[in-house]
Amino acid sequence: WKEAILNLKPYQPGRSIEEVKKAYGLEQITKLASNENPFGCSEKAKDVMKNYGNSLALYPDGYATVLRSAVSEHLGVQEQELIFGNGSDEIIQVISRSLLYPGVNTVMATPTFPQYKHNAVLEGAEIREVPLVDGEHDLDSMLGAIDENTSVVWVCSPNNPTGRYVPQNVLVDFLNKVPEQVLVVLDEAYYEYVDAQDYPDTIKLLGQYKNLMVLRTFSKIYGLASYRVGYGAAHSELISRLDPAREPFNTNTIGQFAAAAALEDQEFIAYCHEMNKKGLAQFYDFCEKEGLKYYPSQGNFILIDVKGPGDEAFQFLMEKGYIVRSGNALGFPTSIRVTVGSPEQNEGVIRQLTEFL
Ligand code: PMP
Repeated sequence: WKEAILNLKPYQPGRSIEEVKKAYGLEQITKLASNENPFGCSEKAKDVMKNYGNSLALYPDGYATVLRSAVSEHLGVQEQELIFGNGSDEIIQVISRSLLYPGVNTVMATPTFPQYKHNAVLEGAEIREVPLVDGEHDLDSMLGAIDENTSVVWVCSPNNPTGRYVPQNVLVDFLNKVPEQVLVVLDEAYYEYVDAQDYPDTIKLLGQYKNLMVLRTFSKIYGLASYRVGYGAAHSELISRLDPAREPFNTNTIGQFAAAAALEDQEFIAYCHEMNKKGLAQFYDFCEKEGLKYYPSQGNFILIDVKGPGDEAFQFLMEKGYIVRSGNALGFPTSIRVTVGSPEQNEGVIRQLTEFL
């Protein structure tokens, strides 16, 4: 495991707008690479940003009191059942720092969000990756990978990068079989985009399973990615066990207040949810017309098989001013992952893709 740490490469996020502008001498860039919200954030959150400028000389509230109370009310969980992080990225790190170390193993799907593996490597834990089946978690096989040394199982639903999800009956069956000393982390970064009838009420399940933790974020539909606020909800004993591993002032002042205000504006969230549905339909139509395979998505992104190297489609689109993700780095070498943008952005990227094909 020491060698694995030495060989670990820094996490590669999508290319930034400024970087691409400079590299290709482009003025206009559309970034559909990191599953951000093309409609920005609520006006309520924007108002907060104007008002909190004066507090910036002070450290943020390490307990995130106002945000904690807002999220607790929104979800219907106790305040002590929540932990906040510098993005849900930090919660993944905190879980890993607390529960993973040499001698234990951790189970995850592949391909999935890469930070589970990245952090597990850093902690020296054994990594057990279980291939997706048709883009979905194979929870039976994941169960089979668990043994007495398993500490954490990661389930990403909807899964990044496939957009597929774990239905209610499958999740409950899994939770009933997982040994109670094993933590199941259910990463729901895209929860608010979900539109499936059989999607589980995961917050309700927290009351029944002390070894379940749900992760959510303000980076996606809430449109606050740059403020870095994510959270975990779980039994208070687990939260207390994790809390020492986070940084004392991990969520920043504006992020805390902007997130609390954003939560109040569920009309904006409903609007973004509907627009995302329409955007996905634009991509589905295009794929069907062109005979391209794709996964119907419950997130704000779509994985499209371009029938050739994803890197080439990625490069072609970038030179036209559209940043997407090549599926090559995500475990799908002949695909690209495109974030659903505004109707015009979707049209634009579809036009360029048609030209590429
Ligand atoms: N989980 C998943 C599945 C994600 O796709 C992302 C962001 N790409 C994150 C967690 C991290 O999000 P954040 O740290 O911005 O909350």
